[in-house]
Amino acid sequence: MNDLAHLRRSLDGDLVAPGHPDYDTARRPVDPAHQDARPRFVIRCASAADVARGLAYARDTGTPVVPRGGGHCFSGRSSTTGIVLDLQRLRDIAFDGDRAEVGAGARLAQVYTALHARGRTIPAGCGATVGIAGLALGGGIGLLGRVHGLTSDRLVAARVVLADGRTVDCDAEREPDLFWALRGAGGGQFGVVVSLAFDTVPEPIATRFALRWRRPPHADLIAAWQEWAPDAPDAVTADLALGEEAVLFGASLLDEATTRELLQGFCDAVGAAPEADVQGGMPFHRLKRSFEDLDAPSGAIPRSRSAFFSRPLRPATIDALTAALSGGRRLNFTAMGGAYGRVPADATAFAHRGERFMLQLVAPTADPWLDASWAAAYAESSKRVYPNFPDLRLEDWPTAYHGANLDRLRAVKRRYDPDRCFAFPQSL
Ligand SMILES: Cc1cc2nc3c(=O)[nH]c(=O)nc-3n(C[C@H](O)[C@H](O)[C@H](O)COP(=O)(O)OP(=O)(O)OC[C@H]3O[C@@H](n4cnc5c(N)ncnc54)[C@H](O)[C@@H]3O)c2cc1C
Repeated sequence: MNDLAHLRRSLDGDLVAPGHPDYDTARRPVDPAHQDARPRFVIRCASAADVARGLAYARDTGTPVVPRGGGHCFSGRSSTTGIVLDLQRLRDIAFDGDRAEVGAGARLAQVYTALHARGRTIPAGCGATVGIAGLALGGGIGLLGRVHGLTSDRLVAARVVLADGRTVDCDAEREPDLFWALRGAGGGQFGVVVSLAFDTVPEPIATRFALRWRRPPHADLIAAWQEWAPDAPDAVTADLALGEEAVLFGASLLDEATTRELLQGFCDAVGAAPEADVQGGMPFHRLKRSFEDLDAPSGAIPRSRSAFFSRPLRPATIDALTAALSGGRRLNFTAMGGAYGRVPADATAFAHRGERFMLQLVAPTADPWLDASWAAAYAESSKRVYPNFPDLRLEDWPTAYHGANLDRLRAVKRRYDPDRCFAFPQSL
């Protein structure tokens, strides 16, 4: 009989229900916008078997269930009124040569640190507490991506507990459709990943740069950036964050002098000199850590909407977007191109290969600027949206997230999760 007492006794980890002293901590995801959800209970899974036990209970009782890695999902997909399968305890990292076997509960800072100890790294994001599983299952964009591709492009295998309780290993040969679908469709769709194997890359020595304009010429910066950054050498990733101030920041695998020359070219095109902080010879993990505060959650995660672009924004649109950049409103431009675009769009589930850049608009909750400005930008975009930046207000979300890969993804979903055990708003 699969009653709660039996489930509790059978676990390698533990079960945290209302009344448990840890309930309030265990139930909460990172984003305050989703912290009201009160799950029936949280299983702090200590093994793949715990995941299977939790899924069996959910199946037998018809209780909704979601996996949680780092708990950063913008739209609260790792929260539920049912069962949260918390994977934080599954965070061991082991090595087989240059291949790293990473527990699905590991956070990015832990992954970088463990890889650094071996002189290795992976292309991945900046947020220290972001979960490696949530990041990789939706793609994974970061400062080495223009050289080495998405985090999911370095994924070579995964162990997954399926809705029916079976644990399967998938890679290019075993369960290849599942492996294809795990690389970029977004987390929580096909099963609960318990470990991920990555083909790591040597940790580079890099040049770090941060150029700051205190009174930025917003329109000139965007106009120059969108022509330059997506076509810069792959070794250079320069992202642009615009608010009341503007910062061009990133990493270059070129030496300091060459990097300075490239940045000077950009500043000449802008026509305004910044305060420049350029430091060569920096081990990549240090560079990465130095940028953590740029996107670390500090209490509230503001609202954001985003889109990919394969062509530049028109001057009139730039003027409209930058007309009122004050009071916490921000435009974050992320350079794509390079290695991101060298993988065919149907080779993995990540459908956004030919894009030049991503624009994320950020604003305080309830600021009407966000929807109006996003709509103006979206009209000129590729109408494609990064699955790791889910947006509940998107109307055309199936094609926006999955493009031409949608039909194949739906077929994989039918095969691996026929009863839709894993379901959330905007799931496949
Ligand atoms: C501060 C911050 C910084 C960020 N920086 C970057 C960045 O630099 N680059 C970038 O590409 N993205 C970035 N993101 C977006 C990030 O990639 C997504 O929010 C990602 O989904 C977070 O994963 P998580 O495990 O932390 O979140 P969670 O909320 O735990 O999970 C996200 C989704 O994946 C599912 N999931 C989690 N673990 C598993 C698992 N083991 N098996 C199956 N499904 C699972 C969840 O159910 C949920 O649907 C950032 C987000 C934040 C809040």
